Amino acid sequence: MDILSARTRLLVVAPHPDDETLATGILIQRVLAAGGSVHVLLLTDGDNNPWPQRRAERQLWIGRQARARWASRRRTEFMAALGELGLSRADMTAMAWPDQGLTRLIAVDAAARVEALDAVVGRVRPTLVAMPALDDRHPDHGAAHVLMRLVLERQTPAPVVWLYRVHGGARRSCPSVACVADASTWARKRAALARHASQLVLSRRRMERLAARTERFEALPTEPLPTELPWAPRWPQRTCLRLTAAAAGGGAAWRWVHAPLHRQPGQGCRLAAEALPAGEGVLFVKLELTLPSPWIFDHWGWRELRR
Ligand SMILES: [Zn+2]
Repeated sequence: MDILSARTRLLVVAPHPDDETLATGILIQRVLAAGGSVHVLLLTDGDNNPWPQRRAERQLWIGRQARARWASRRRTEFMAALGELGLSRADMTAMAWPDQGLTRLIAVDAAARVEALDAVVGRVRPTLVAMPALDDRHPDHGAAHVLMRLVLERQTPAPVVWLYRVHGGARRSCPSVACVADASTWARKRAALARHASQLVLSRRRMERLAARTERFEALPTEPLPTELPWAPRWPQRTCLRLTAAAAGGGAAWRWVHAPLHRQPGQGCRLAAEALPAGEGVLFVKLELTLPSPWIFDHWGWRELRR
């Protein structure tokens, strides 16, 4: 925690309203107590959240207007939670991108989204970025990691990156930094969580359990990266899979059966060089089912590859 000082400029990347509280409610307060500054980058307004909305509003059909109303409610809750943590409207930027739609944005519009995030990073000039880990199993969290990595690889000097997980995927063998707190700091984190009332409608116990965990952060992994895809799906599963790739030059997605892959006997698959998004630097790939499912969490998720 020596890194936290009056010179710290923390940028928290929150895919949804509540991630800032669950993952960094203590860290935000620690940075402010050290005299540093905090900015929260909210990627979506959490509008695609139908079951709590159905319960709270007592209506089955959630149309476009209802989604907009829920987004407005969640943004208001988010602002109130920031207030509990000691932040104001000037300390946040909201992108209002589609909830549960960030992976799709990467596939069709990665370059523009990276530019938009780069503008925020250029304004905040963070010394420390707290953002989701690549293997956080919520699709928006993994996608947020990918977009931010594509932004951060442009930065010189690069800020320190701390990765958090809200939804599983824990790499327990990784060294991590624990963010400890006193009773009053925990109390403010609980007060911030209480402001996210829409999320407590159906999931109060789960949310309280997530908020009560010690906030732990990992550095970016440093082990050598593979060049081959780690997956070898079989028939008939491969007919209903989508492969997405993302790099500095943009993103692309293919059905697995149409993906431009080089297969070598006895080895795994590689994306054909001519199909890779342009540019140097990091390359990410994701495998997911194309079939609609009520289970939103990633099974295969994102991996980072060497070109
Ligand atoms: Zn989230």
